[in-house]
Amino acid sequence: MKIIYSERCLEFAEPGHPESPERVRRAAAYLRLSGRYEFLEPEPASEQDLLLVHTPRLIESVKGRTFFDYDSPAYPGIYDYARLAVGGAILASRVGGLSLMRPPGHHAGKDFLGGFCYFNNIAVAVRKSGKRTLIVDIDGHHGNGTQDIFLGDPQVVYISLHRSPLYPGTGLSSVGNCLNFPLPAHCGDKLYLEALDEALHQALRDFNPEQVALSLGLDGYRDDPLASLGLSTSAYREIGRRVAGLKLPAFAVLEGGYLPELLGPNIEAFLEGLEG
Ligand SMILES: [Zn+2]
Repeated sequence: MKIIYSERCLEFAEPGHPESPERVRRAAAYLRLSGRYEFLEPEPASEQDLLLVHTPRLIESVKGRTFFDYDSPAYPGIYDYARLAVGGAILASRVGGLSLMRPPGHHAGKDFLGGFCYFNNIAVAVRKSGKRTLIVDIDGHHGNGTQDIFLGDPQVVYISLHRSPLYPGTGLSSVGNCLNFPLPAHCGDKLYLEALDEALHQALRDFNPEQVALSLGLDGYRDDPLASLGLSTSAYREIGRRVAGLKLPAFAVLEGGYLPELLGPNIEAFLEGLEG
């Protein structure tokens, strides 16, 4: 699988913020060192691309840095950095790759941002592709933004496995085409993978997707400080195997994961499972 990455996404930071440049810098270095992956540079998404899922009001507020969200700083240049991360997801969807970019996206909805997210990277890529898509969100938090964007969209089924109770407090039950699987903290590999199997089973009962898009959050890893679900590295390999088992074109977009030294190994395990 090709890795979509630009060092430009390391250029914004706030001391002590968990969504640090160090996360992706170390992950990219780790994956590059293996020599197994081709790296591609993304182009920023256009405003037209953003308008596929976001309101003009949200886009203007990010451009002018007039928003306030406690978790999501108004970094200088954030509009351009966020557009570059969206561009990474779009390129990943085109080449069947993994976008290893920041900021993440799954907490950004049609008209809101939050949770370190400004624009919804995977949502723009899915809608721009025009394909019937199964979105699988394995981040430890519920992707409230992705649900907000695709709820009721017949082109998409969204499944999310996430820790509950936890930020943002949504996703407590399934609604329409959004299938939610709240799980207890530190639940471990076995329970998690059973829930994933059930989620995939439910999702594919009446839906025939053309592709699968993975919101690859790694904060369910057992030692993660924000969203641990007690998962081991081998759980990510198993998740990759299950995605491969769908026998559909797949792409992935990085979401959370707050142990910089563990992102690389866990992503590598996922890719090993995916690619067999
Ligand atoms: Zn998360």
